[in-house]
Amino acid sequence: MERAKVNQGINVKDYNDVWVIGELIDGKVHPVTIELIGEGRKLADKINKKLAVVVAGNGVKDVAEKLLRFGVDKVLYIEHELLKDFNTEGYAITISDLIKERKPEIVLLGATSIGRDIGPRIAAKTGTGLTADCTKLEIDETDGKLMQTRPAFGGNLMATIICPNNRPQMSTVRPGVMAKAEHVEKVTGEVEVIAPSLKEEDLRVKLVEKKDSGKKRVNLIDAKVVVSGGRGLKEASGFKLMQELADALGGEVGSSRAAVDAGWIESTHQVGQTGTTVRPDLYVACGISGAIQHQAGMHESKYIIAINKDKNAPIFEICDFGIVGDLFEIIPAMIEAVKEKHFLEI
Ligand SMILES: Cc1cc2nc3c(=O)[nH]c(=O)nc-3n(C[C@H](O)[C@H](O)[C@H](O)COP(=O)(O)OP(=O)(O)OC[C@H]3O[C@@H](n4cnc5c(N)ncnc54)[C@H](O)[C@@H]3O)c2cc1C
Repeated sequence: MERAKVNQGINVKDYNDVWVIGELIDGKVHPVTIELIGEGRKLADKINKKLAVVVAGNGVKDVAEKLLRFGVDKVLYIEHELLKDFNTEGYAITISDLIKERKPEIVLLGATSIGRDIGPRIAAKTGTGLTADCTKLEIDETDGKLMQTRPAFGGNLMATIICPNNRPQMSTVRPGVMAKAEHVEKVTGEVEVIAPSLKEEDLRVKLVEKKDSGKKRVNLIDAKVVVSGGRGLKEASGFKLMQELADALGGEVGSSRAAVDAGWIESTHQVGQTGTTVRPDLYVACGISGAIQHQAGMHESKYIIAINKDKNAPIFEICDFGIVGDLFEIIPAMIEAVKEKHFLEI
């Protein structure tokens, strides 16, 4: 089969600027957008180009304007009544059209469910590549290309990927990995409203109804304390102990993938390479061996406490405080100590 020749003959020099594809959900900005702005600013400054954020929606220009406070040069606000709620085709079509017209050199998206949904479609529509789940982005000093680093082969090595011949250079970045942009003292950028030509027949899927699942949302990314349990908990009821400690410390419950795979807890709690990346002030790993894929999602925590009965468990190599012993004896004692306020406040 002949390879697709979608983008042959492009001149990479025609492409300029760094774009962040932002996410507005119910009129609120997803935190990953602010993280990508922080990273995008660094990349844009390195290659001496401008930084723009693209957001789509309807009637939310005021929210789009707020993004200027983070020091972006431009907000490209795509406004259309069919973009009021997220829909895959509407977003992918309008953003791809804008990319084709304006030719950004670098495009960053969050590796969220929205970013993972539209990222590959935009890459296919614009005839370029996409590096998913990047953990590091740098500019090659020699030729100005974007070096996109991500875990490969089950996280056992890090691969740095470039997109030499096609543009834009596109990456998705996992939430929680990059540091958030700060507010700037003086806003200099502006909002440009884009009116796309989008028709109802362009969208094959229609939103009929929105329903709340009724489940409590875990917010591991913003949590100051995360208490995570692994296979060492033995069974689902072990997570009651995790919840009790998390409640005592004012934190959220996380887990290893082994615990999720065993069906003891929902995947939204999973920390690691294929789960959420967290960087809380305190991470308590209980009955978790510390596989490289788990470490990938929590090693940047400020303090790590590990409780494991195997003194050779890899988690002890990266923790600040390690307790070798049975978690079923240690955790209840910790809960009691915290409740009695014998625990150090950090
Ligand atoms: C592509 C890929 C992606 C992956 N992504 C992730 C990911 O995102 N997150 C993730 O976590 N894993 C991920 N994994 C899986 C990962 O490799 C490990 O298998 C997993 O992290 C192991 O989970 P665990 O530490 O709970 O279990 P185990 O490795 O089985 O460790 C259980 C630990 O509990 C200890 N223990 C047992 N009983 C007690 C007790 N009573 N008291 C104290 N300690 C006790 C044991 O000594 C042991 O160290 C991924 C793997 C692959 C290949």
